[in-house]
Amino acid sequence: MKLENNSAIVRETLRTRFAPSPTGFMHLGNLRTALYSWLYTKKNNGSFVLRIEDTDRSRYVDGAVEVIYETLKECGIKWDEGPDIGGDYAPYIQSERKNAYLEYALELIKKDCAYYCCCPADSEAECDCRNSNLEKRGSVIRQKVPKTGKTSFKDEIYGEIIVENEEIEDQILIKSDGMPTYNFANVIDDHTMNITHIIRGNEYLSSTPKYNLLYEAFGWELPVYIHVPQIMRDATHKLSKRDGDAYFSDFKAKGYLTSAIINYIALLGWSPKGEESENEIFSLAELTEAFTTDGISKSPAIFDLEKMRAINAEHIRRLSPDEFKRIATPYIGEYPINYDILCNALQPRTEVLTDIVAQVDFLEKPSDYSRDLYNNKKMKTSPESAAGTLPESLNVLSGLGNSDSAEFNKDNLYSAFKKLSEKSDKKPGYYLYPLQVALTGKPAAPGGGLDICVMLGKGESMNRIKKAIERLEEN
Ligand SMILES: [Zn+2]
Repeated sequence: MKLENNSAIVRETLRTRFAPSPTGFMHLGNLRTALYSWLYTKKNNGSFVLRIEDTDRSRYVDGAVEVIYETLKECGIKWDEGPDIGGDYAPYIQSERKNAYLEYALELIKKDCAYYCCCPADSEAECDCRNSNLEKRGSVIRQKVPKTGKTSFKDEIYGEIIVENEEIEDQILIKSDGMPTYNFANVIDDHTMNITHIIRGNEYLSSTPKYNLLYEAFGWELPVYIHVPQIMRDATHKLSKRDGDAYFSDFKAKGYLTSAIINYIALLGWSPKGEESENEIFSLAELTEAFTTDGISKSPAIFDLEKMRAINAEHIRRLSPDEFKRIATPYIGEYPINYDILCNALQPRTEVLTDIVAQVDFLEKPSDYSRDLYNNKKMKTSPESAAGTLPESLNVLSGLGNSDSAEFNKDNLYSAFKKLSEKSDKKPGYYLYPLQVALTGKPAAPGGGLDICVMLGKGESMNRIKKAIERLEEN
């Protein structure tokens, strides 16, 4: 197999690629690289290529490629070419291209830009192989980097980067088993797939001169480089898997919305310019409009969980009531209650979906509470006042409609309690706060006493109030 870049389609279309290794997880940093590449490509009507870099078979994890597909699909990042959908430059899985790389390395040897080396991998001393260039059993092929001069290139974000050639090591291109190294396969693939713009983390800035010397040796046109800052946990540490929350799946499990994860990671290292410069809340479509590379920062981006929560809360508020109900229900569980009223109360009180669980723990039965919970200065209530108002509340409920009929609604409940409070010259809260305590056993609940009444239904509400009255009498 000979990989050829198809010169008929040369450089008329902008082409970017996302080239993850199948590790089984999607690191937020990788996902952000995919996102930036995709946004940039969409903005420029280009083609976004998905390539799987699986040459390191020792690290291969079953099902890992599917994790890449599923994560990107869920995020709305659609690739134009890739292993599953094919394209003009197939195959898109590096291990299926493995026989092609040696040929390129041999071409470099002919050009005196690479050489055989049979020294032990851990050998510290500089070997003499680059001068003899003999193939021996167990040889690797190394890049022959000039000993003098400089290599420079322009990065779209970091500007001109100049490296002394003597600082660049003669990296291995082909391993002793004939397989390419990551660094070599990457360059060959980018060229043969006609990738015009390379967007990746700035940890590759220092390797780029080595890559460029290869492009030069082959006489290939360099791609445009857009290196992006790293995502840091704090000023000195990268956000790593050891933090336990570096993966897309971690945040999904913690109750973050996909749209909010995308929104937040977009802002890690990029900020909008112009009209949108004050805005922080973006859907994927809005990001596609707003994204420009001049908003990419050079400085490392520090991961801020509080900000991510705040952005998630905004995305939750943006959901339609039906959509919120659909995604909240698994966190609520199944009860014979009015979900519309509950979800209506929960939606503005939820920052991440897992917050819901503790808020609805009263649905099964009221939380265990002490009679002190009836003390509320603002509402002027106490266990004693509750002992007086709860029986009145029970009367109100029992007088309203048959069991759980349409008459048992919030408006009717409200008018009835309003009459009660006018008659006694107390505020409605004087009745409604103890009602909420009786129904939930909690100082704060998703919705006030009336919401909870309608949510639980007439029968269940009355049972709970009766039990609360009994408890007050016991003490
Ligand atoms: Zn050697």
